Amino acid sequence: MEERTIHMELCSSRKQKPESSQLEFGKVFTDHMFIMDYSDELGWHDPRIVPYQPLSIDPSAMVFHYGQSVFEGLKAYITPEGDAQLFRPEKNFHRLNRSNQRLCIPPIDEEFGIKAIQQLIALEKDWIPTAEGTSLYIRPFIISTEPYLGVAPSRHYKFIVILSPVGAYYKEGINPIKIAVENQYVRTVVGGTGEAKTGGNYASSLKAQEDVAKKGFAQVLWLDGVERKYIEEVGSMNVFFKINGEVVTPALNGSILEGVTRNSVNQLLKHWNIPVEERAISMEEVYEAYKNGTLEEAFGAGTAAVISPIGQLAWNDEDLVINNGETGDLSKRLYDTLTGIQYGRRDDPFGWVV
Ligand code: PMP
Repeated sequence: MEERTIHMELCSSRKQKPESSQLEFGKVFTDHMFIMDYSDELGWHDPRIVPYQPLSIDPSAMVFHYGQSVFEGLKAYITPEGDAQLFRPEKNFHRLNRSNQRLCIPPIDEEFGIKAIQQLIALEKDWIPTAEGTSLYIRPFIISTEPYLGVAPSRHYKFIVILSPVGAYYKEGINPIKIAVENQYVRTVVGGTGEAKTGGNYASSLKAQEDVAKKGFAQVLWLDGVERKYIEEVGSMNVFFKINGEVVTPALNGSILEGVTRNSVNQLLKHWNIPVEERAISMEEVYEAYKNGTLEEAFGAGTAAVISPIGQLAWNDEDLVINNGETGDLSKRLYDTLTGIQYGRRDDPFGWVV
């Protein structure tokens, strides 16, 4: 990063903001966006905030053909005092650079990235919805823009941040979901790109998701791509099981995305002296625990929903109904604590809030 000043070009008229009750996920975007360019000669340069607008990109831009792109997802929240705050943004920028490394994209200055987001949020603060459970979703992403049909790392990129006001994930409070264990398709394998937040991982997940949605399931539970035995993630969340008083989450084995929420849950559990283990866990082990009555809770953890209790898990024609299909005490406690910190209603003993 040579140039540190963010050039500002403001729009002449502001868009109408949606009603809090009408907010859907990712459909409406704010008035401005952040953008900066990369070329081999100049590095990352020309950081600017401009009106939200379509991009003009060459049809031969490499991202359209070979999918060299990465993205992040985090949120801005309004506190009871009316301040805007972010939750652990340094984790997202750190992960963005790890994704960059895997996709051969040049790293960005993490501190500068956070500063850019802060400047954009300060400008768009009126767009952060204030109703219970609502927030402003932040989507930083990088695309490869060199006009060249060759399979090689691009020499031109754009880093862009767009903002979208989003509604409460659970309209009537935290709610258990139905999940299907995926036996046919896999998300990724160790050595693949599963650890990176890159578009291809999500493209390859669509088919499985579409198939189970037809059967009434919210998401799939991914198994490892080699043995189809060990549990990886649930949809776009990390997954946790409470068995006999102990919490288990799959260890980061190279094919699992390291969630910011996952890391926060692990820290909270340790803080509460609840045993938590990161290790390989098979579907057989979960099934055994279910059969012998020690599977107490299961839940997904991610930025969008924070904590999603799993009420029902379908596996090989069997339906495992967990905790009577209800939200468990631990899921509820984690949800209340994390959202309390994110919305500035609770103490932040870990210094997570920015
Ligand atoms: N796994 C996948 C595949 C995801 O897309 C996400 C969402 N980023 C997560 C896990 C959860 O990550 P986080 O807690 O950082 O949102």
